[in-house]
Amino acid sequence: MMISERAEGMHPEHDPGNPGPGRDSVSGPSRSMERIGAAVIGGGAVGCAILYELAKAGFRDLFLFEKLPRLGEVQSGRNSGVVHAGIYYRTGSAKAALCVEGNPLMYEFCRVNGVPVENTGKLVVASSEDEIGKLEQVHAQAAANGVPGVEMLTSAQIRRLEPCVEAPAALFCPTTGIVDAAGLVKALARLARDRGASILTGREVTAISPLAGGSFEVTCRCNGVDETFEAEIVVNSAGLYSDEIARMVNPSFGARIAPLRGEYYKFNRLRRKEIMLNRMNVYPVPGTVDVGGRKVGVVGVHLTPTFGYSEGRPCALGDVVTVGPEFVSVEDRNDFESGRLGPDLFHARAKRFFPGLRLSDLEIDFAGIMANLESGTDFIIERDARHPCCIHLVGIDSPGLTSSLAIARKVADMLR
Ligand SMILES: Cc1cc2nc3c(=O)[nH]c(=O)nc-3n(C[C@H](O)[C@H](O)[C@H](O)COP(=O)(O)OP(=O)(O)OC[C@H]3O[C@@H](n4cnc5c(N)ncnc54)[C@H](O)[C@@H]3O)c2cc1C
Repeated sequence: MMISERAEGMHPEHDPGNPGPGRDSVSGPSRSMERIGAAVIGGGAVGCAILYELAKAGFRDLFLFEKLPRLGEVQSGRNSGVVHAGIYYRTGSAKAALCVEGNPLMYEFCRVNGVPVENTGKLVVASSEDEIGKLEQVHAQAAANGVPGVEMLTSAQIRRLEPCVEAPAALFCPTTGIVDAAGLVKALARLARDRGASILTGREVTAISPLAGGSFEVTCRCNGVDETFEAEIVVNSAGLYSDEIARMVNPSFGARIAPLRGEYYKFNRLRRKEIMLNRMNVYPVPGTVDVGGRKVGVVGVHLTPTFGYSEGRPCALGDVVTVGPEFVSVEDRNDFESGRLGPDLFHARAKRFFPGLRLSDLEIDFAGIMANLESGTDFIIERDARHPCCIHLVGIDSPGLTSSLAIARKVADMLR
């Protein structure tokens, strides 16, 4: 899931030593500093959605700084790609509200802007009679969150939808789907640029100093050279590093990211009739796992259909189904590959409701690292306690992709 981006930092308009027409340059004794309206830090789905929403709302001189050469390559490029319905999260939480709001926004945005999206539907299956009580709890939570159309199915009804799934009961959730996350990020970036926003890739924000008038001096490094900007507003959407960015603004910011690596395998649904998956996302009942001594709530190893490709572009449902994620804790926020899990565990988990799957069907797939909070489970979206022109988005783990457009609306409202 790579996104091809022009390295805009090379464009003379974006060279802070050579400010473009209409931009104010503040000269100090030893450097010049370009004045900008807002600095959005991080070019994942959330940062790009915020940039687009602010541009749409008429905010001016918007800049997005992304440290990697391309957008959307961290969490936003390494996930299940599921458009979640919002059935699991505590009513009243930011996750519940923003996922339920974000779900229809995502379908609408993708249809209007040509981003591949499929409303596949989802089954949450009980693998034994003992798990039916857990399904009922999820059903009640879904109803409390206002998720439309969720219903309990019998085993015969399940088989009519997905003949290879075996379970005594399931919850059917019609609003779940899949989205091409890379296409989403690309579309958001294009639309933001069309409205005048600047996207600077290859720019790592290395320091932020609050200034006396309420604005911020933002320092980025590009090819070993420091550049400084004076930003009226800072939006911290730096994903796995959002806690570190928050402490640049305010050293007493408390929340910490405890990265979790989610690992995947995959199989080809057309290989044998026993593993033919029609189109649905299939999940076990949610549970908790012990990751590095912490209990973490997880949705469980699930089957997710993916898009097929035609002439290099994602199109209708393809043949590959991912199996995962299984989570492990990692120290290094960039460690995607060391000590990857073998296929046995994935096979054992999926076989409980998808009995035709053989160990030999599984091939290793990608891993993604999630910006899980060390303590607390909800998204943090708040103004900095000392510097109100800075908004922090920390702990934007799942369902952050689904919620990205709703999160962006919320941030724009906070800044109006
Ligand atoms: C394994 C896994 C499965 C998931 N499955 C789903 C799912 O099915 N559905 C769903 O809704 N959500 C899912 N999520 C969650 C979803 O992927 C994230 O919530 C979402 O992508 C977060 O987007 P983001 O823009 O906040 O973060 P990111 O995509 O991580 O973007 C942050 C960006 O900030 C940049 N950055 C960091 N530090 C700096 C700096 N100092 N200067 C400049 N740039 C910086 C990074 O390079 C990065 O590009 C999953 C996540 C994982 C890991």
